[in-house]
Amino acid sequence: MLKVYNTLTRQKEEFKSIEEGKVRFYQCGPTVYWTQHIGNMRAMVCADLIRRSLKYLGYDVSFVRNYTDVGHLLGDNAGDADTGEDRMDKGAKREGLEPREIANKYIKIFEEDIKALNIIPATHTPRATHYVPQIIEMVQELVGKGFAYVTPKAVYFDVSKAKDYNRLNKQNLEENREGAGSGDVQDSEKKNPHDFALWFFKTGVHKDALQTWDSPWGEGLPAGRQGFPGWHIECSAMIKTLLGDTIDIHMGGIEHIPIHHTNEIAQSEAVNGVPLANYWIHNEHLLVNDKKMAKSEGTGYALSEVIEKGYDPLDLRYFFLQAHYKSKQNFTWEALDAARTARGRLQSVVGGLSQNKGDNVDEQKIEKYEDYRVQFEEALSDDFNVSQALAVLWEALKSNLASQDKLDLATNFDEVLGLSLDQRQDIQGVRDIPEGVLELVDKRGRLRKEGKFEEADGVRGEIEEMGYLVKDTAEGPSVKRKT
Ligand SMILES: [Zn+2]
Repeated sequence: MLKVYNTLTRQKEEFKSIEEGKVRFYQCGPTVYWTQHIGNMRAMVCADLIRRSLKYLGYDVSFVRNYTDVGHLLGDNAGDADTGEDRMDKGAKREGLEPREIANKYIKIFEEDIKALNIIPATHTPRATHYVPQIIEMVQELVGKGFAYVTPKAVYFDVSKAKDYNRLNKQNLEENREGAGSGDVQDSEKKNPHDFALWFFKTGVHKDALQTWDSPWGEGLPAGRQGFPGWHIECSAMIKTLLGDTIDIHMGGIEHIPIHHTNEIAQSEAVNGVPLANYWIHNEHLLVNDKKMAKSEGTGYALSEVIEKGYDPLDLRYFFLQAHYKSKQNFTWEALDAARTARGRLQSVVGGLSQNKGDNVDEQKIEKYEDYRVQFEEALSDDFNVSQALAVLWEALKSNLASQDKLDLATNFDEVLGLSLDQRQDIQGVRDIPEGVLELVDKRGRLRKEGKFEEADGVRGEIEEMGYLVKDTAEGPSVKRKT
């Protein structure tokens, strides 16, 4: 039985999909005005692992991850998504390009990055700017039903009309207001400070907005009824169009609980009259050196920086596999080194298995084989505990199972882990290093740390005799086959 932690109830619950055997799954995607840092990549890998787990457990998954390419204002950084400049406009000015060109550029980089991390492509990747008619339709319905009102500056959702507005974030409205950061209410005609914008008009602070559309409201505005959608309504409209009124799983970062997801629920449910999602899943953040990632501190690493330092993107994927999505994970280069070593080992152990076919299989071992499969499924069924599932793979590989069975298990488990274990030859040709050599590299490292350099040099000699060269780099030792 699959159990999923649901933020709505703050409990692990038995998972029941709306339609038997099918899962409709939405993840809030990136705002494409900048290269995504590895913290965002962790969120993408977490969703990929959940999606692959569901598939492994027998579900057919429709997975939608959007691109936000309009309406996500910079004020969201300070907890107030209704203030500040549109991120896309900022990106456009920074690079002297059109917002659409900025979106194209950063979508391309994002898609290359997620491919390198072996993330399965989404079923749909809608761009908000392609769903403006659907967004307008939803806003019109909200206005028509009395959930929203129009001022000369924007169309707002009236949170006092929402049924149980704060049921996801478990806050009271005063806390919401505090959480809104600056508390800078720019529109004196807003009824309540916590009402949020569904549509901004091209006027006032947004008079120079670069991406605007004709809208049915805003008569008499100097800009001629032009405007652009708020960030929250975009997700609601794309979900409704592509997945339906109620979906099984909605996922995003924990920072979206207080405002973005709370507002998605309010809008969607006001229009549809049914729950937006049955299970709300939130991933925790990636830290760097135990601190929040920050561009200003030079720790907002992009995947390209990881690759430039000589790592394989799958080393980073392996690193992400080691923590549960609901836990914070601390990134350090040393931790990535350890992940690289472990992945190299896994690759070489599995690579060695393929050359070792034809062992006899006895009854006891068949039972054990099934045991490992059950343990693997149990780990995934416990709120997608992938790090535990990875531990099951290691146990199986260390067991006395027949080589062919181990290989079968590794290949089967890799459907979830996504480490390309079937591609035994590493891209750079340095990964298929025998276990014995890796052990010696470790031993040499330990000896050097203890200051036993002479003994360490002896071990280096042993490594060379086995046909491998070890080199010390800033990121730790690197090994390659002698050429
Ligand atoms: Zn969203």
